[in-house]
Amino acid sequence: MSDKTTIAFLGLGHMGGPMAVNLVKAGYNVVGFDVVPVALETAKSHGVPIAANSGDAVSGAGVVLTMFPSGQHVLDAYRGTDGQPGLLAAAAPGTMFLDCSTINVDEAREASALAIDAGHRAVDAPVSGGVVGAEAGTLTFMVGGEPEDFEAVRPVLDVMGKRVVHCGGHGGGQAAKICNNLILGVSMIAVSEAFVLGEKLGLTHQALFDVASAASGQCWALTTNCPVPGPVPTSPANRDYQPGFAGALMAKDLKLALNALQGTGVAARLGPLASEIYDTFAAEGGAGRDFSGIITDIRDKSQPAGTVKRAQQDGSQA
Ligand code: NAD
Repeated sequence: MSDKTTIAFLGLGHMGGPMAVNLVKAGYNVVGFDVVPVALETAKSHGVPIAANSGDAVSGAGVVLTMFPSGQHVLDAYRGTDGQPGLLAAAAPGTMFLDCSTINVDEAREASALAIDAGHRAVDAPVSGGVVGAEAGTLTFMVGGEPEDFEAVRPVLDVMGKRVVHCGGHGGGQAAKICNNLILGVSMIAVSEAFVLGEKLGLTHQALFDVASAASGQCWALTTNCPVPGPVPTSPANRDYQPGFAGALMAKDLKLALNALQGTGVAARLGPLASEIYDTFAAEGGAGRDFSGIITDIRDKSQPAGTVKRAQQDGSQA
């Protein structure tokens, strides 16, 4: 795809808005659309040309990029709803459908199949890196699709990201994304439980960090997104858990992982439990906080310190 390609950018929300702006800055001919007027206004004020409706946006486009909240939004938009023609019908034959939303693997495969059956090309390319990465153009794209389609969309993704990885066939991008976030969700709970245990046992946060960050407990949840303030000054814990990566998004991604675990029959125990833990966290006020705020939940629900101290003294006397 050259920078002469017209890109219909649909879904100008927290992520899509700044991604579209970066494409405009790189010289692409972008036509944006969103169903929410404030998203349109914000994108327009940052230089993104806006279409009157999604049909107008896609009709002259070589690429239809979607950045929607869920798989249902993507499938509905592709097919059309309430008797209205969808994006697949409105686009010229051979258009590249590039979906960057985070959705179920099955939904991604279905969306790609629909696009291909309608005479188009299709790639799934979910992202990690959050709003900060979207603004800075430093996202990671995990791409599923045919090798030639991956090569075709790569220049577009390179503008919005710093890392673009071909993960396999259709749905492969979504698969990589949820597998990564399964590791992340579980490891953040483990790191948080370890810090709360350390507190109970009289360890300072810094002492545990100094040991674990250079030992076998080392992981991103500890050394980059450390759930306690202090050891990593840039982690969200130092700004009262402002995201970062919001608890609602972790809960969403783990639900997608759970669906895939169940659908494939994996004998997983921690994944389903982590999904339940973040669901509760999100429902009890953590939806808009960084997911590392799970540590406050663990701390709040732990036994009072006095009980533990006595047990510790009993143990040391034995
Ligand atoms: P968002 O809700 O801010 O934006 C989604 C936008 O899509 C909304 O503005 C909505 O109005 C629009 N939309 C929905 N249906 C539409 C349609 N048919 N036509 C046009 N516009 C439509 O969500 P977001 O935070 O930008 O996230 C988008 C996707 O990226 C999600 O799938 C999310 O899981 C994923 N993601 C988000 C983050 C993050 O930090 N926010 C990080 C990684 C991945």
